Amino acid sequence: MNYGEIISGIYEGLLRQPPQGESAAYIPELAKVNPDCFGVHLCTTSGVEFAAGDSLTPFSVQSITKVLALTMAFELEGTALWQRVGVEPSGTPFNSLVQLEYENGIPRNPLINSGAMVVCDALMKHLPDPEAGFLKFVQGLTGDSAIRYNPTVAASERSHGYRNAALINLMKAFGNILHEPERVLRFYFMQCALEMNCRQLSRTFLLYAGHGRAPADGRQVLSVSKTKRINAIMQTCGFYDESGDFTFKVGLPGKSGVGGGIAAVHPGLFSVAVWSPRLNKKGNSVRGIQFLEELTTRTGSSVF
Ligand code: GLN
Repeated sequence: MNYGEIISGIYEGLLRQPPQGESAAYIPELAKVNPDCFGVHLCTTSGVEFAAGDSLTPFSVQSITKVLALTMAFELEGTALWQRVGVEPSGTPFNSLVQLEYENGIPRNPLINSGAMVVCDALMKHLPDPEAGFLKFVQGLTGDSAIRYNPTVAASERSHGYRNAALINLMKAFGNILHEPERVLRFYFMQCALEMNCRQLSRTFLLYAGHGRAPADGRQVLSVSKTKRINAIMQTCGFYDESGDFTFKVGLPGKSGVGGGIAAVHPGLFSVAVWSPRLNKKGNSVRGIQFLEELTTRTGSSVF
């Protein structure tokens, strides 16, 4: 497969189209990023890499980190985790409050905000310094100690994070948050403020294309069975109330973030990261989805 030629063909084609969508404005720091950045990086499981555009510019990974936090928590907690958070698509926006009330504070899945906060709370049982412990885990996957948080982005979100505060307080009232909500929220915002470029992100997500083996050294970080389950959750829940549409168009397990990034994998074949900050109404990158739709169409390589 000539991924290189196909990637640059799609990339150039999309650049010629007028930009659509807006970057996330509810986190003021994210609104400062040039909305027309566009980068792509693809790694095959056989070790070949392809890139286009702004693939080496770091960006705020945001909700994509929910997959990495889930990975760590699933490994540490095992199936007990599913008593506190479900695995069903929500059909609602990422920061929605409605289901939480009538479902007794149990979030639908770990890839919406409420579910990711439960995951943070679960991680805090195991990590004396959660921010440092999680960062070390992420860096260790690819052996890349240059991966960092951006505390300015975390502080920016924190100063406007009323809806996330409402979510965590509601879950605390239902008894599904063990630690102090303020402390869990602080960890959650820092986790969302993780920065990577497309190359770092696609290398990291090779974990899910490679059946749970760490891209850095091949050690089994996550069992084959758990990796299957995380990929299934990405497939059904990775794009909130656009997960069905993403599956229909792209046909790969993936996860988006409001920083404009998307990471997607084809188990056994490749991992790909795309970054373009302009989002659609559902909070997912417009160009990111267009790119991936064309990629799986032109290469005939969706999982379906
Ligand atoms: N930090 C963002 C929030 O909590 C993450 C949302 C996202 O990337 N979809 O709202």
